[in-house]
Amino acid sequence: MQIVFIGPPGAGKGTQCQLLIDYIRAAHISTGQLLRDEITADTAEGQAAASYLKQGQLAPDDLVLGILRKRLERIEPEHGLLFDGFPRTVNQADGLDETLREYSRPLDVALELIVPDEEIIRRLAGRGRADDTQETIRTRLNVYWTQTAPVLDYYRQRRKLREIDGLGSTEEVFARIRACVDACQQKAG
Ligand code: AMP
Repeated sequence: MQIVFIGPPGAGKGTQCQLLIDYIRAAHISTGQLLRDEITADTAEGQAAASYLKQGQLAPDDLVLGILRKRLERIEPEHGLLFDGFPRTVNQADGLDETLREYSRPLDVALELIVPDEEIIRRLAGRGRADDTQETIRTRLNVYWTQTAPVLDYYRQRRKLREIDGLGSTEEVFARIRACVDACQQKAG
């Protein structure tokens, strides 16, 4: 299966993705993690991306799509793909569509994890990652609602979007995700 997982920063995507990759046997593709890896390895891409991450702004689409394509070259054919925190812009969604076509791996579903902003701010305040300061949190939420929310419409129009209530325990949220993924798998055949 190919699944896109979308939600505001701090909605619990990382935790749920860990559970989901085991469940559907997929490779976890987090562009945030890929970018942090490039920064740690001090590559040209990492150097180009560092200031964007620090400020909570989106890294340029071309850079992200380049890193993504490099990652996809290393995927085992028997594994599905779980995209975490990608696509973040409509331009990236178009890029992903094109790339998946090249690999003959159509997207099954885009899951939107819904968590209210007040809850996000409460959760992120306790997480302690380098880009989790009050100011970047606000910027990243703002970026999410302005640049990433249109991606939800993109998938809604293509009848690929499923909304998941992200409030509750990890187990409760994952049960909702599993029910949704099971339904998609049944429909697919
Ligand atoms: P994340 O780990 O998904 O919360 O991403 C952390 C940061 O990496 C974001 O605030 C952005 O600066 C950058 N980033 C991650 N994924 C993308 C993407 N698909 N497009 C642009 N920037 C991204």
